[in-house]
Amino acid sequence: MRPALLVIDMLKEFVYGRLKSPTAVEIIPAIRALVAKAREKNIPVIYLADRHYVFDKEISMWGPHAMQDSEEAFIIDELKPGQGDIVLYKRSYSGFRDTGLSSVLRDLGVDTVILTGIHTHICVLHTAIDAFYERFNIIVVKDAVTAFSSEDHEYALRYMEKVLGARLLEHKDVLNIFERS
Ligand code: ZN
Repeated sequence: MRPALLVIDMLKEFVYGRLKSPTAVEIIPAIRALVAKAREKNIPVIYLADRHYVFDKEISMWGPHAMQDSEEAFIIDELKPGQGDIVLYKRSYSGFRDTGLSSVLRDLGVDTVILTGIHTHICVLHTAIDAFYERFNIIVVKDAVTAFSSEDHEYALRYMEKVLGARLLEHKDVLNIFERS
C-alpha cells in the first residue's frame, strides 16, 4: 500500500466559524497524531482547503464561507501545515475538482487515500466519490471525520462503505498501518 493522508477543510471557518461542526474540535487530536506519524514515515500529507470567490456556485447555497483572503479560510493553528506538506485549494466540495490532486497523487505513486476532516457527508463524501472514480483505494478514519450532526455523519460513513468500498478504520488502526510502512 502506498497511502497519502488527506486533511479536508480543517479551516477556522468549519471548526470555529460560520459553518462549524459542533464536534470538530473533538477530531483534532486524532488528526494531529496521524499527521505527525505520516510525516515521520514520509507518507504524503495533503491538505485540501475551501477558498471561495463570491461568485462560486456554493455561496448562493451556504452563504459566504472560507472566502479568499479571509482569516476564516486559514487552516486551524492546531493543524498548521509543515514543511513538505502539500496544500491544495478548492472551490467546491470535492478535493479532486480543479485542484490538481489527481496528478499529485499519481506523481507520488499513491494508490490509497486516507480521508480525515469535515464534513463527513459533504466534502469528505464528495472527495471519496471522486477517489472511487479515479480508482484509488479509500480509507475513511471514523474518529477523524465529523459533520453537522451524528445522522449526517453516520449516513455518509455507511454510504462510503457500502457504495464506494471504503474501509472504515479508527485512527489507532491507521497509526499502526503507518508504523508498519
Ligand atoms: Zn465551500
